[in-house]
Amino acid sequence: MLDQMESAGLERLHFGQDASTGMHAIIAIHSTRRGPAIGGCRFIPYPREQDAITDAIRLAQGMSYKAALAGLPHGGGKAVIIQPDQVINRAELMAAFGRMVDSLGGDYIAAMDSGTEVTDMDAIARSTRFVTCTREFGDPSPWTALGVFEGIKASLLHRYGCDNLQGCHIAIQGMGHVGFALARRLKTAGAELTITDINPQRLQAACDQLGAHSVAPEQIYSVPADIFSPCGLGAVINNDTLYQLKAGIIAGSANNQLLAPGHGEQLHRNNILYAPDYLINAGGLIFVALQHTQTSHEKIHQQVLQIGSTLKRLYAQAELQQCATHRMADQQAEAIIAQSAQLHSAV
Ligand code: NAD
Repeated sequence: MLDQMESAGLERLHFGQDASTGMHAIIAIHSTRRGPAIGGCRFIPYPREQDAITDAIRLAQGMSYKAALAGLPHGGGKAVIIQPDQVINRAELMAAFGRMVDSLGGDYIAAMDSGTEVTDMDAIARSTRFVTCTREFGDPSPWTALGVFEGIKASLLHRYGCDNLQGCHIAIQGMGHVGFALARRLKTAGAELTITDINPQRLQAACDQLGAHSVAPEQIYSVPADIFSPCGLGAVINNDTLYQLKAGIIAGSANNQLLAPGHGEQLHRNNILYAPDYLINAGGLIFVALQHTQTSHEKIHQQVLQIGSTLKRLYAQAELQQCATHRMADQQAEAIIAQSAQLHSAV
């Protein structure tokens, strides 16, 4: 396990359990060099404890990169609560997790993630103030969608020299919290949409409300669109899908879109412009981090809009160095974190 921590550059790994509620949790703190670690808290079943540990470590590292490129005074962290076969009292289990978070004295701030809801964050908040996404703060998804919208415009500008969405054809995978909010923005801006979802009711509702065309989930990759926007799950760019893609740009909200870094290299070789996921989907993180420090909505809005400018700069530098965009994003995030470490040790 120490090897795994070392190779991910992880600062700390915390384990907690509470027999009375069945709470078993892992909190991975990747870095606190730029400020407290912030990141989502998952509540899903894992076949083995080791899988939960691996997930927490991998995701915490990604959160550090996301916070660094978004210019936030935070490091990355991630919590995983292993969902038991039977949950007797979910609110008590979350409150027990809140006590674990509180014991870290603010080094980790919890947020919503797969399997957790606003009500869970409210239950965690009974035991600690180091939590966001409570009812008081609200859902970050519309802010994530705003950031992706700005990222799509930046990608169009880089690729085609014009960011006018009128008549632009966008294929969106996933009509959930982010995908639907993004689709509505794009539709209002004049884009033509092809959408899909594995949930037929959700897909039908989205088609009705947006006047969009729909395709079966497996057909979305080969839609001859200008942009493919993955807003469902991760690992959708893989050996099976790479060669189906017709779009010249991939820009969506899903985390970990590339199954492996090599798939990003292949996109680069195929001349498909890839918006690095943790850069373009940082709007929600910006919202939760700044809400936690009582920043006004106007300032949060301005900072989320910056995602477009950051992406434009990254594309220009990647082009100059003939480097794949996901590599450029990793290099830049690592440089920002290393710089903070130097400042830290100089104080
Ligand atoms: P969500 O669960 O509300 O929506 C996901 C949607 O995708 C669901 O409707 C689901 O049925 C659909 N889906 C899943 N697999 C699919 C497939 N193979 N084909 C078609 N549809 C599929 O989740 P969300 O909050 O909208 O987040 C979407 C993605 O963005 C996730 O990967 C999430 O990790 C990432 N993300 C979300 C936020 C946020 O603020 N919510 C922030 C950063 C990243």
